[in-house]
Order: sequence, then C-alpha cells, then structure tokens
Amino acid sequence: MIYTNFREIDKAGRIVISKDIRRHLNINAGDILQINADDECITIKKAEAKCVFCNALEDLIELDGKHTCRDCLKKLNEQ
Ligand SMILES: [Zn+2]
Repeated sequence: MIYTNFREIDKAGRIVISKDIRRHLNINAGDILQINADDECITIKKAEAKCVFCNALEDLIELDGKHTCRDCLKKLNEQ
C-alpha cells in the first residue's frame, strides 16, 4: 500500500506524519527516524535500532534485545 499526504512544513522545519502512516509503520512517540536527502528527495525511515541511553544509531551492541553503543557501554563499565 502506498500512502501519499501533503503537509505544510512549519517555521521550525517540522512536519506531521499522518496517523495512518505512523500506524502502518509502527512509528511511536520517541522512536528515532533516519532522514536522508539527495538533490531532489527526502526519505524518512524508521531506524532499526538505537542506543537505549543516548539514541546513537551506529556502533551498537545487542544485549537481550536492547541495544547500546560502545561509548555508553564503556561508561557503564567504568561505574
Ligand atoms: Zn549510547
């Protein structure tokens, strides 16, 4: 199914993703979205995994279904 919405961007650069699209992609408040742009298009994709502490998207380690980045893991180990 393809969803098409037309949305006005506000002065702060924000747009609203419609409820039907959020529901279709299981996007919830607090989720991290990856935004890519080229010369013509912007794509927004739900990020697959993020660090539970700092929301980093790269260099993640999975532990019991949760993800943490190496920097946060190092901070935990130091405490
Ligand atoms: Zn982290």
